[in-house]
Amino acid sequence: MAKRGISALSTQEFINKEKEFCAPNYHPLDDLVVSNAEGVWMYDVTGKKYLDMMSAYSAVSFGHCNRRISRALMKQASELCITSRAFYSDKLGSFAEKLCRMSGMDMTLPMNTGAEAVETAIKGARRWGYQVKKITENRAEIIVAEKNFHGRTTTIIGFSSEEAYQRDFGPFTPGFKKIPFGNVRALERAITPNTCAFLVEPIQGEAGIIVPPRGWLKEVASICKERGILLILDEIQTGLGRTGKLFAFQHELDTPPDGLILGKALGGGVMPVSAFLGKKEIMSLFTPGSHGSTFGGNPLACALGLEVLAMLEEEDFVERSRNLGFYLFEELKEIESSLITDIRGKGLFVGIEIDKERATAREVCERLKDKGVLSKETHETVVRFAPPLVITEREIEFAVEKLAQVLDEIEMEELSLSS
Ligand SMILES: *Cc1c(COP(=O)(O)O)cnc(C)c1O
Repeated sequence: MAKRGISALSTQEFINKEKEFCAPNYHPLDDLVVSNAEGVWMYDVTGKKYLDMMSAYSAVSFGHCNRRISRALMKQASELCITSRAFYSDKLGSFAEKLCRMSGMDMTLPMNTGAEAVETAIKGARRWGYQVKKITENRAEIIVAEKNFHGRTTTIIGFSSEEAYQRDFGPFTPGFKKIPFGNVRALERAITPNTCAFLVEPIQGEAGIIVPPRGWLKEVASICKERGILLILDEIQTGLGRTGKLFAFQHELDTPPDGLILGKALGGGVMPVSAFLGKKEIMSLFTPGSHGSTFGGNPLACALGLEVLAMLEEEDFVERSRNLGFYLFEELKEIESSLITDIRGKGLFVGIEIDKERATAREVCERLKDKGVLSKETHETVVRFAPPLVITEREIEFAVEKLAQVLDEIEMEELSLSS
């Protein structure tokens, strides 16, 4: 990392350039321009070091520039990167097989971004609704949860409950029905003969790490089965070890759901790799010409995905997430600050709710950054701690200590203001 600390432009110049030439659809933390990273640490253009407690929304679960992943990337990049699905490759079959074996699903359809895999799931569910369940043409309904996050395409945002995601992007795709998250009775009531699927996150990530009541998913699975609708889980963020199980559904279900959506960490934090997986009776309805993606299932993506799956099998990421998740939770509970109103999560997937009358999560994140810890607010009130799964206990202690200091500072300032 010879480059570290020596940069042609200053922090503000990099930021200004981004602001001038990029559409302002994000609001990154101020005064920070990242140029290098390794494991759980990120380095900015001035050489300052930061602990990454965000992992790019769980995309870098195995740490930045992970050796095994980098090696797999370099090897495959020098052999074959893309064929398009016009031709068979020597990588896709092996990747698909391993993905199906590890998740307990029959077949997969590989895509790139998470939103594309969600779109694929929607198409799969509707086709199954018409061709297997015999729903009248164009009447199929999919039930979703309020405060869901499934991506940013026009169809997906159409069933979001976030005004900011939707404003002036309509008209939206019909055929979706929203119910409160974690509510079994609402699901039972919402099902009609036209319902083909319930699409839901096992833990709502972008909504603020919302953990449903214990037993909810188990009941949901049995209702879906009884009433003849598909259960499709979006595990783009919760999957691949994040919550202390390989898949979050394993906290409650003994058998996999009908459909499963993966992304983010599946690409090893290197490139977008996503997949919709499902039972054969759904997946076999995707006939040639019905769906596709130029880059979906490309050999480079498959090599990365294969390495990620091999790492999950051979190394202890899932256990680490579970054990260190408990540790993080315990450490956070020790913080004595009335600014924290709730701590929730599973594994290394934790949300810290900040008293919104007194401080914004954004303010907490900005101050954490100044102390060398990176996170990002989710909505106005939640600070997310979801570090790469390679984090150590000492690094967790560091993050928690900095959070305690930040909250202390805010409380001290409140006191001095009121006196
Ligand atoms: C990030 C995310 C998506 C969208 O993935 P993209 O790769 O950004 O399209 C969908 N669902 C969930 C649960 C996510 O966390």
